[in-house]
Amino acid sequence: MNMRKEENFSEWYNDLVEQAGLTDKRYPIKGMNVWPAYGWKVMRQIDTFIRQELDATGHDEVCFPLLIPETEFKKEKDHIKGFDSEVYWVTHAGLNELDVRLLLRPTSETAMYPMFSIWVRSHGDLPLKIYQLVNTFRYETKQTRAFIRVREIHFFESHTCHVDEEDAQRQVEEDFIILEKLMERLALPYLLLRRTEWDKFPGAHYTVGIDTYMPSGRSLQLGSIHHYRENFSKPFDIKYEDVDGNQKYVHQTTFGMSERLLGAVVGVHGDDKGLVLPPDIAPVQAVIIPIIAKGNLEGVTAEARRLADELNAAGIRTHLDDGDERPGAKFYKWELKGVPLRLELGGRDIANGVVSYARRDTGEKGTFLRKSAGEDVEALLLKISKEMRDRARQRMESSITTIDSLDDLPEKWLRFGWCGEEECGKKIEETANIKILGSPYEKEEYHGKCLACGRETDTVVYAARAM
Ligand code: ZN
Repeated sequence: MNMRKEENFSEWYNDLVEQAGLTDKRYPIKGMNVWPAYGWKVMRQIDTFIRQELDATGHDEVCFPLLIPETEFKKEKDHIKGFDSEVYWVTHAGLNELDVRLLLRPTSETAMYPMFSIWVRSHGDLPLKIYQLVNTFRYETKQTRAFIRVREIHFFESHTCHVDEEDAQRQVEEDFIILEKLMERLALPYLLLRRTEWDKFPGAHYTVGIDTYMPSGRSLQLGSIHHYRENFSKPFDIKYEDVDGNQKYVHQTTFGMSERLLGAVVGVHGDDKGLVLPPDIAPVQAVIIPIIAKGNLEGVTAEARRLADELNAAGIRTHLDDGDERPGAKFYKWELKGVPLRLELGGRDIANGVVSYARRDTGEKGTFLRKSAGEDVEALLLKISKEMRDRARQRMESSITTIDSLDDLPEKWLRFGWCGEEECGKKIEETANIKILGSPYEKEEYHGKCLACGRETDTVVYAARAM
């Protein structure tokens, strides 16, 4: 890596994702990248945690077809308006032109809801809570960027149906808890911002965006949680019979996130030496490098192998690098890949009954006793994870700048008063070339003036330029 993160974030990011083996952009369709083994291992680890949390909260994993008939896609009028320009169409099957065109799912509401109208019959079928991890497709016209703006997206989506608005609201709150557990593992700070009316998901009653702050000064939306009320259940006729025998429409929610989670991990934690992976998602959590001197090759290697076996048995993903490169070259290689902990074992360490370590995130070095290696490595990994998140949170919080005028805007997360009128909101967005991300889901105490019209307001919003 010869690119400097602080000087040119964009180039640094684009170089790093390929050099570290997370993605291969050479596939002959722009915006559709290959997941090489290392990148896929990291993504799979993230997916594992998503599955764990969803399964633990009573969701069932399913898998729906990729193709959606145009007739279903057009049932909800706002939805089609929101996605029309982004979908890929299938117009032919073999040599025949199709009567009803099919599209590649950009998201799966219109694939799932015709089936929900068959599956849901009575209040006993509710709540219905399902999710899937699949690829979705959106025709991006802007400059593509690995994990952040791609045309084939590795996507998680949960869809739920409830007896009423309150129960759907409870689901939204549960999604926040699931999200927090996941983000702790990714060591990512974030804000939950309720999107403006003109920016909410097409067809939603309301949308909560999950936003994180990138060191470039821009915001990155990691996903979103939506309350649909009956906006989809009416056009898709998803009804149930309640305890009194009345037919009612279900209330629905969705929760979606994508491979952007990985993009955020790269951007937030990486440095000029390469990736810095949070221990929970690192395919290799600790790498052991034997430090060989004349005459001790066999002894040191054997002891390094014993240490690797011991750590793997203790559930720590450990790799022994006993190749014949020089230690310096090995350090460089594993730093680029973001391995959280490097363990060094040489003749002197063995004689002293210790193992030397170096943390990837801070560079801090030290030793621990060989006999308590399992416990010590585990404690170090926990510490790294916690400190990575604390530092990222501090950076995010210190970047939030409260402003009361549109002059001399810093490239940061901006916080200001807004009266709630669409006209004012759009004027601010246009004048400052920023995007209003929304007001905090948990209302923040605020007294100030609307940045556009000057009226008194107690509503504060966050805005930034989007990645
Ligand atoms: Zn105003």
